[in-house]
Amino acid sequence: MSTLSTPSSTLLPTPGDDSLSRASGQTPSPIELKGLSHSYGTRKALDDLSFSVQPGEIFGLLGPNGSGKTTLFRILSTLMIPTGGAARIAGFDVATQASAVRLQTGIVFQARSIDLKLTVRENLMHQGHLYGMSGQVLRRRIDEVLGRVLLLDRAGDFVETLSGGMQRRVELAKGLIHAPAVLLLDEPSTGLDPGARRDLWQYLRTLRDEDGVTVLVTTHLMEEAEHCDRLAILSAGRLVALGAPLALREQIGGDIVTFDTRGPAEAQALALRLAAYTESEPRVLGASVRVEHSEGHRFVTAMVEAFPGQIEGIRVQKPSLEDVFIESTGHRFWQEQGPEAEPDAHTRETESHEGFREPL
Ligand code: ADP
Ligand code: MG
Repeated sequence: MSTLSTPSSTLLPTPGDDSLSRASGQTPSPIELKGLSHSYGTRKALDDLSFSVQPGEIFGLLGPNGSGKTTLFRILSTLMIPTGGAARIAGFDVATQASAVRLQTGIVFQARSIDLKLTVRENLMHQGHLYGMSGQVLRRRIDEVLGRVLLLDRAGDFVETLSGGMQRRVELAKGLIHAPAVLLLDEPSTGLDPGARRDLWQYLRTLRDEDGVTVLVTTHLMEEAEHCDRLAILSAGRLVALGAPLALREQIGGDIVTFDTRGPAEAQALALRLAAYTESEPRVLGASVRVEHSEGHRFVTAMVEAFPGQIEGIRVQKPSLEDVFIESTGHRFWQEQGPEAEPDAHTRETESHEGFREPL
């Protein structure tokens, strides 16, 4: 506890600044998974995940709803013991060294965890007390973290009077109060408007660049995943891709051409015909056919001439993270969530987290 009552003057210690690394002379990875699996009864939520997060990177866990992000988040935050494999934070095992892991880790849950009826400062005081901090040290630390999230002038305000974006920043300050080396955030921008989302990402970058904090963030939003230094893409609990967003997209190469047809049967028929003209296999996605081609525009012109009347619309795009997902799994990102979770239903679901919405 002594490390907590005297946080260093720099905002946060560097990852690996712990007794284990000092003893071994090596800096352990901030987050390391080895064959990590988890089942709820017979339902496998995580399936043999292995990867390491580098010190001081913003690492994203991207996957559709139900792909296992929150399950992994719960395991890393020591709320749940995995049914197989192992996970370590700063060298400490999340299953057997939970207290050590908690000292190294700041956690920002998807659901609101701050008290609306208390002031910003009171919320942070309570959190500090949980970590054995008190008095002058805690007061200084609260000012430090509130300065970091630009809320120092709101310290005395009741949380319920703050906007959704500001409340999220209080959550962030709460997660940082004990100067953790690793910060875990589950779907942090859920329900935030675009401006608040941009601000949040700016704070995460500041934490990375100025304080050397390693950040793991889960998201089901592909445009958000683009902000991460590296990504693990999950599908049905399995790791389907790992790397920097640009590198993942570049692995696909060329252009992605999508032909829209009148219906799924027409798409199937067109895909069979297109196969003769391309090296990569056309994929049918509903009423569309998706093809990779090194020279998309030339290919489109030739195909429009070859198949008059069979093509209703055409798009030529550079590969996106969704294309990475489709390449790895053979199906669309949203398709994984089952019939009740079409993109529209998904939007409703995300917006229903009342706690993080801006007041009307
Ligand atoms: P995500 O956060 O990516 O949406 P989750 O980790 O919440 O995914 O869920 C992964 C899978 O585990 C889903 O199939 C989900 O239905 C299942 N699951 C999650 N929590 C529980 C639970 N407490 N009991 C049983 N099944 C669960
Ligand atoms: Mg989740």
